[in-house]
Amino acid sequence: MRKHIVAGNWKMNMTFSEADELLDELMSELEKVTLPRDTQVIVCPPFPYIEMASDYANDSYFTVGAQDVSEHEKGAYTGEVSAAMLESCEIDYCIVGHSERRAYHGETDAQVAAKVDQLLAHNLKPIVCVGEVLEERESGRQQEVVKRQVEGGLFHLDANQIQQVVIAYEPVWAIGTGKTATPDQAQEMHAFIRSLLKEKYGAAVADEISILYGGSCKPSNAKELFSNPDVDGGLIGGASLKAGDFMGIVTSF
Ligand code: PEP
Repeated sequence: MRKHIVAGNWKMNMTFSEADELLDELMSELEKVTLPRDTQVIVCPPFPYIEMASDYANDSYFTVGAQDVSEHEKGAYTGEVSAAMLESCEIDYCIVGHSERRAYHGETDAQVAAKVDQLLAHNLKPIVCVGEVLEERESGRQQEVVKRQVEGGLFHLDANQIQQVVIAYEPVWAIGTGKTATPDQAQEMHAFIRSLLKEKYGAAVADEISILYGGSCKPSNAKELFSNPDVDGGLIGGASLKAGDFMGIVTSF
């Protein structure tokens, strides 16, 4: 059965000591609860704090992810971090194709596909973000856009590889805006994504893939969002920066 996942994307926030404090709080909060065995908690801090997060994760109940990776194997790419480096730091997950990377860094579906390949080649699980902008939803093109992103970023993979991938549906108009997709809007898009996976890889494979919702998810709306059959958890931005809020979401299944 596919996993329930809550992944915190810290983005470019936190100093070293703030990160230390948050990880410490998170660890003690996680120690107090018993999560269902199929629930995976992932923390994606900025690169400089990956090692510290891994140290905490070693004796706790979460695992560590990166926020991005290079599409290249190695070499003269100043400032970039490779999948081989993440593998050597024993990182398990990595976000790719986040809408902020697509919007501010011009990341294309082909680059997302290349990053996914790098991660899989180095035994990391990609968390691949897809989602439409407001204008695309308002003109009824959200499924067309998401289909293009899913196909372009993922459909070169074989059936074994695709099962290593987590997909995050993040309507761009809901990210950091306080405006959340309704549970029905989320379920509709998640079911659509799963139908694409079913068509390409068959029902058994499609049923194994976790599809997360992202976009102003918080303790007050997580339960309703996660109760939908095709919503397998959340990718959390703002609310992952406070241990109490993040835990409120983690315990919403
Ligand atoms: C995100 O950026 O992945 C995200 C979901 O952000 P927020 O929760 O702040 O909307």
